[in-house]
Amino acid sequence: MPSLTIPSADFRALADRITRLSADFLDSLDQRRSFPQTSGAETERIFRVPLAEHGLGAAALEGLADVLAHSRPPSPRFAAYVFGSGEPIAALADLLASVLNQNVTAWRSAPAAVAIERTVVGWIAEAIGCQHFSGSLCGGGSSANLMGLAMAREAKAAANQDGARPCVVYASSEVHMSIGKAVALLGIGHKNLRLIPVDREFRIDITALDRAIEEDKRAGKTPIAIVASAGTTNTGAIDRLDAVADLAQRHGLWMHVDGAYGALAAIAIPEQFVGLGRADSISLDPHKWLYQPADCGCLLFKDAGRARVAFSHTGEYARPLSEDPIEGFAFFEESMELSRRFRGLKLWLSLRYHGLAAFREAIQADLRHARQLEARIKQNPRLELIAKGPLSAVCFRYVGQPRIMDDAELNWWNEAILHYLQRVRARVYISNALIDGKFALRACFVNHRTTDRDVDVIVDEVVESAKHAVLNPR
Ligand SMILES: *Cc1c(COP(=O)(O)O)cnc(C)c1O
Repeated sequence: MPSLTIPSADFRALADRITRLSADFLDSLDQRRSFPQTSGAETERIFRVPLAEHGLGAAALEGLADVLAHSRPPSPRFAAYVFGSGEPIAALADLLASVLNQNVTAWRSAPAAVAIERTVVGWIAEAIGCQHFSGSLCGGGSSANLMGLAMAREAKAAANQDGARPCVVYASSEVHMSIGKAVALLGIGHKNLRLIPVDREFRIDITALDRAIEEDKRAGKTPIAIVASAGTTNTGAIDRLDAVADLAQRHGLWMHVDGAYGALAAIAIPEQFVGLGRADSISLDPHKWLYQPADCGCLLFKDAGRARVAFSHTGEYARPLSEDPIEGFAFFEESMELSRRFRGLKLWLSLRYHGLAAFREAIQADLRHARQLEARIKQNPRLELIAKGPLSAVCFRYVGQPRIMDDAELNWWNEAILHYLQRVRARVYISNALIDGKFALRACFVNHRTTDRDVDVIVDEVVESAKHAVLNPR
């Protein structure tokens, strides 16, 4: 047998072991610490082993127990960052996608996979009220934002042929760091990303935005795009999309919506996203609020021709690869990626298995959990609500009763509380945000496993950690 080939019976036996390991792990989620008992020194000791010259065979799988034991699990009480919970039907599809190993460059190379990816992208677009959009799946919101801005730049200040010329992009001061990265990578430069102030609800100030565009135009600069946030990472604020669309239209600018956190919530609360469909491009992340396993971002665009102008490097993007419009389709003409994994399969299986209504209900439950947490914080005099948004992020801090500390001391204390809560108690996992100079504890629900009881545990754990964090400063 050629090297690397394994007998079918061995594959079945190994797959059975991994399936059992996975199922046992899922069964254990509720009992597990929300952050593993581990350290940097320990993960180095366990995993930084020499490369084996001769294979271990099935014994290699024994190392997987350590991988699970030293991983932050997708716990019901994980409410940190913005990261989805990993829906298991989608995980099963991921195994098959890897076995099939399609290269989803173009229909001619992956017929079913291309049809399925185009279908699920269409489903997502329709589910958020943007049925006139098409697009593709990618690694995540950062890649989607980069591609969206590459399209904007090629549409408004073409650079592919002659190189970049100075141009200006607008976003709110709350915009995600991936937008800063994208303007840097595209050669637009950080100094040409105008960070416009926000109103009291952390939404971009439309008047200030208009004024900034006017000023740049008067100064002979070239405004090209406005990035609206549909769910800022800190507080879930949604910029006034309709007003941004009006401005973009009036000034002839590209409108990109960074919906990596929030756009999928339009499945449950479309009224919060009025104007979304007027964008030129939208990034969103099924690996956040559609609970898919990681490596599932999505870029939607209104005009696929604009994507081909930005990304086709065959020089003849008007010419189809085949006379048949379906068989001639190539994702590499509309994306920066060439070799691409079959990301569509997990969405296809997961959405067909559960149905859209189940996802809508899960998103509604996340929103309800955020409101529940806000209510519990307001009821507790030792806690202060710092920011709440229309989505599922809640920022608060421990202030004590009576409140005797100033902001600087509270910042230090809350940081210590968070460390104690995450690493010592490890019953819940939340993260932090800096809001107007205040160190805030931040819970963000994009987790289909969280129950009402888990939400209450967050408050209990913060209060309990506060007792110890003072005694055990970092
Ligand atoms: C998470 C996030 C991103 C980046 O998405 P990745 O999938 O992590 O690359 C961009 N914008 C916002 C608002 C986000 O929440």
